[in-house]
Amino acid sequence: MAQQFPSLSPEQKKELSEIAQRIVAPGKGILAADESTGTMGKRLQKINVENNEENRRCFRDLLFTSADPVPNAIGGVILFHETLYQKSDNGKPFPQVIKERGIVVGIKVDKGTAGLNGTDGETTTQGLDGLSERCAQYKKDGCDFAKWRCVLKISDSCPTPLAIAENANVLARYASICQQNGLVPIVEPEILPDGTHDLQRCQYVTEKVLAAVYKALSDHHVYLEGTLLKPNMVTAGHSCTKRFTPQEVAMATVTALRRTVPAAVPGICFLSGGQSEEEASLNLNAINQVPLNRPWRLTFSYGRALQASTLAAWQGKAANKAAAQEVFCKRAMINGLAAKGEYKATGSADQASMQSLYTTNYVY
Ligand code: 13P
Repeated sequence: MAQQFPSLSPEQKKELSEIAQRIVAPGKGILAADESTGTMGKRLQKINVENNEENRRCFRDLLFTSADPVPNAIGGVILFHETLYQKSDNGKPFPQVIKERGIVVGIKVDKGTAGLNGTDGETTTQGLDGLSERCAQYKKDGCDFAKWRCVLKISDSCPTPLAIAENANVLARYASICQQNGLVPIVEPEILPDGTHDLQRCQYVTEKVLAAVYKALSDHHVYLEGTLLKPNMVTAGHSCTKRFTPQEVAMATVTALRRTVPAAVPGICFLSGGQSEEEASLNLNAINQVPLNRPWRLTFSYGRALQASTLAAWQGKAANKAAAQEVFCKRAMINGLAAKGEYKATGSADQASMQSLYTTNYVY
């Protein structure tokens, strides 16, 4: 058995675990605003707004400068490379604006997926080349955490052992490189909701994927206290005919996590995966009410489920900025409550927040 040679100093470990704890402090989660230029284009197209640098900047400015309650519910924001170097309306660089509000700045560092030849459309994720240098630069430029998304899918024959092993290994290698450069890695093995599978099959696959991820993180000597996990919730496939309640989703999700995620991991921040805004909030709330011991913070790292109704309220018009910010504040606060299991739905959720945000074979 190999012995471990020192990889991180006590000071480095302390810094990483403190960053992770700050991001998932009680009642806080993450705003995933790291849509690539192409993905942002699809969002803007829905509201008939041109996908140019200035419009992307305006929308992000709206999110990052929303009123004061937001920092109570948002512990971290994930940015795309372009946004890290853009400025707010008042001329301040975005990272500075975000940090001054006590929110931790994160950066998407993967370079998207690439096909695994000989499989039924399964993928791995690219971006390891030059990653250490990029992480060092991002740390200097104000980032304290990073995100890397791997994608797996469920079908009769998927995920294959190859896809599970390859994605677990690349996530572990990425996490190790991030930690060497002072960035807390968010480890994201997303299992897509596409398919007709039921809740039990999703739970089974989620357990197998997460078990492989934590074996790989251990093999790569990743310091778990300085990481965060970003998984899918355990839900039935989008085309499954049977419906499951938030309580059933919550029980399946927490059961899968308890079987696979070490207690040393400080926080688990779910992606919304095409759920409507309200569904994602209700499921998170139910997860935080499951009557089982939950040794980690269970919170959100939502993209679509934090931004959809805000985008709809904005419509690309400066005159709508304040109203859109109000919508964003409300959604952030609801999710902050759900992260504590304290959200009481009033039954008066608006139409925009109930709309499914699902897209087939989602690319981020
Ligand atoms: P959704 O919450 O829209 O699924 O996306 C979050 C994310 O960051 C995916 O990598």
